[in-house]
Amino acid sequence: MRTVKLPSGEPVSAIGQGTWYMGDGKSEAAREVAALQLGIDLGMTLIDTAEMYADGGAERIVAQAVAGRRDQVFIVSKVYPYNASRSGVPAACERSLKRLNTDRIDLYLLHWRGSFPLSETVAAFEALRQAGKIRHWGVSNLDVADMEAIAGAPGGENCAANQVLYHPNSRGIEYDLLPWCDKRGVAIMAYSPLGHTTSRLLRSPALVAVAKRHGVTPAQVALAWGLRFPHVISIPKASDAGHVRENAAAIDVVLTAEDLAEIDATHRPPGRKQPLDLL
Ligand code: NAP
Repeated sequence: MRTVKLPSGEPVSAIGQGTWYMGDGKSEAAREVAALQLGIDLGMTLIDTAEMYADGGAERIVAQAVAGRRDQVFIVSKVYPYNASRSGVPAACERSLKRLNTDRIDLYLLHWRGSFPLSETVAAFEALRQAGKIRHWGVSNLDVADMEAIAGAPGGENCAANQVLYHPNSRGIEYDLLPWCDKRGVAIMAYSPLGHTTSRLLRSPALVAVAKRHGVTPAQVALAWGLRFPHVISIPKASDAGHVRENAAAIDVVLTAEDLAEIDATHRPPGRKQPLDLL
């Protein structure tokens, strides 16, 4: 598996695994745990979760998936904006640690901006980092102006990643946020890289044509497309073992200039600033 370096120099797998909607129903739990374990075996060792997902249920699924191999895995979780205060962050973190059955979160993100000042959330993250409860921190769904505010807060230079919506039908970040993060070494984590509900994106004639040329699937093309930037980490969610295998193998798909031009013709790159797209 190719890796992406965080600002600290620590490498993480370029393709990770999402967990939104995992932990929702007991009947699916064993299948979801098995999918994540297979993904780890195949090198997708970064796992993305959140206190929000299934009300903590997804974090419990992650705990089962990493049992006995915690040190091989890089766990990302997220705090709700309404918990993002000086006292709310450590309390939410403790609850997540308990559900994850671990003593540290590798990367802890603010899920989206709420009403607490960003500097307060950064101070809370920094305190957790110094206490060893989290190893890195970052943000999610923040556009350039908020990233500037983060960078200007005491400790803000330690922001490791910004997790944002990024796939061929949603590429506004290429105009300004992606280069902003690249310049400062902040990793971009591309969420919903398959378009969340995959039917529409994966039927795109451009993706289908490129996939045919490479003998791969449109999903693999969508992942390879996001990974053409060296500081982008992609986190597809898959509960199906076949999907997990496909996603891991997408690391070997290298798109040509011709492929990218064909994708651009249908999925136009941004020509001007666009409001940050989010789910
Ligand atoms: P996604 O990964 O773009 O798509 C997930 C869907 O794609 C599932 O229905 C999955 O089916 C299917 N799929 C997976 N691999 C496939 C393949 N190779 N071929 C065809 N279909 C495939 O959407 P997402 O779950 O919204 O995003 C990924 C992760 O990003 C989330 O799980 C979450 O961890 C994170 N996220 C973060 C935010 C945020 O605000 N920070 C927002 C959204 C998502 P099966 O499950 O049946 O395999």
